[in-house]
Amino acid sequence: STPRLLGPAEIRDLAELLGVTPTKKLGQNFVHDANTVRRIVQAAGVEPGETVLEIGPGLGSLTLGLLETGARVIAVEIDRRLAEQLPRTVELMQPGASLTVVAEDALKVRELPGEPVRLVANLPYNVSVPVLLHLLEHVPSLASGIVMVQAEVGHRLAAAPGSKVYGAPSVKAAWYADWRTAGQVSRQVFWPVPNVDSVLVAFERHDPPGTETERAATFALVDAAFQQRRKMLRQSLSGRLGGTTASAAAVLESAGIDPAARGEQLTVADFLAIARAHLGSGP
Ligand code: SAM
Repeated sequence: STPRLLGPAEIRDLAELLGVTPTKKLGQNFVHDANTVRRIVQAAGVEPGETVLEIGPGLGSLTLGLLETGARVIAVEIDRRLAEQLPRTVELMQPGASLTVVAEDALKVRELPGEPVRLVANLPYNVSVPVLLHLLEHVPSLASGIVMVQAEVGHRLAAAPGSKVYGAPSVKAAWYADWRTAGQVSRQVFWPVPNVDSVLVAFERHDPPGTETERAATFALVDAAFQQRRKMLRQSLSGRLGGTTASAAAVLESAGIDPAARGEQLTVADFLAIARAHLGSGP
């Protein structure tokens, strides 16, 4: 009988059929291990009938694992050859499964053909953070997700203030959701074998702490603070808060933040307090 998931032989055959040479630029490392696929799908807690968003389905390894549970999948793939082949692969291996392919750049998607509640993806590593932030911003139906990313990025997303890897992505991600790492993935499950380690990272969305205007102002402060990570906030934020260290210190003090602190010590709520003090919209 036809296998329902892709193993090494199927991955090789499909790549050959399509004339696909995986490109580094698009982060193309395809999973050829059914156990890894089932583990991700299980960790995600995907339920029959629910709509799942997948970014970068590639040859369809994870897509088939998601469809196997009875979920509906909306898959966004930038590589036209892969986007065109995917419905054929699915029809062959799991006829009747519910798949919609969107051949587009995930960084540009806004309207989707459905309202996905969950994101499950093996993300293209060079754009994983921008893709996550874009989706959290523009796909409000997404309530939770589990994604595979480069290990450093996963640890950054899940980092708390004070941690060495806490940075702008950690604060921005925390605006939208709670994050945790959810296990490592061996390099050996990919073709080609990547030269970085991978982890799973899971998120649960929470209500945003502020308005859209406040979010934009908060993110601008976060970028400025982490561009000059070693500097005290009254220096790193001076350009954004009145132009001098004195004007910045005054805003920071009115927000209840020590002007001599550094960005890596601040929570997203702290950055929001500074943005509010600056915008004059504080509580
Ligand atoms: N999900 C497949 C798997 O697990 O085998 C492939 C994962 S591979 C790491 C990343 C996939 O994302 C590739 O298929 C690549 O073409 C696609 N991709 C890269 N950049 C993208 C973008 N900006 N928007 C949508 N898809 C993208």
